[in-house]
Amino acid sequence: LFVTFEGGEGAGKSTQMRLLADSLSARGYAVLTTREPGGSAGAEAVRHVLLSGAAESFGVRMEAILFAAARSDHVEQVIRPALGRRTIVLCDRFMDSSRVYQGITGNLEASFIETLERVAVNGVVPDLTIIFDLPAIVGLERARRRAADQGPDRFEKEQLETHEKRREAFLDIAETDPERCRVVDATRPPEVIAADVLDLVAALLPS
Ligand code: C5P
Repeated sequence: LFVTFEGGEGAGKSTQMRLLADSLSARGYAVLTTREPGGSAGAEAVRHVLLSGAAESFGVRMEAILFAAARSDHVEQVIRPALGRRTIVLCDRFMDSSRVYQGITGNLEASFIETLERVAVNGVVPDLTIIFDLPAIVGLERARRRAADQGPDRFEKEQLETHEKRREAFLDIAETDPERCRVVDATRPPEVIAADVLDLVAALLPS
């Protein structure tokens, strides 16, 4: 089972992924948690470049290709082998982040994004994608509090308008692909969200 966690900044994806991993492990399932960009040695190296100041001079196409290169390595080195061992794979961001960040707010044409996606995922598509939805202003405030501790990465310096556009884009994906995607209201308390997330995943597990 392959589950991806998607949404804007400060939506609580990473926290929810950890909570779900703990619940599933406690029930005796083998679970692997991973993230993008990154998740394999090669992809983490690309992540380092993408989140650094050096990437500010990259064109959007180069950036999209680097995300796709990292995804390809992550899929082939980590995700596909884990799924082959029947491990449940939970991934913080995946192909939908590229559709939204590089495609919608990066203004790259859909056909370019689709081609990269097809090459990178190479048949490994999530069984379930959970989209953590919240107003951009709420997510930004949460991300800013975090940035006060760690310093913002270059993607977190963007405008509210851009974040709103991304929220809409994630909701559009959910509407277009209701078989795969579920939207959860990420403004609620973490334990309430975690219960919903566990229900969504449990529905897909053999009982
Ligand atoms: O999940 P997290 O917020 O840590 O992601 C790291 C950064 O990479 C984010 O700020 C996000 O905006 C950016 N990103 C991106 N395109 C992707 C995946 C992540 O711009 N496909």
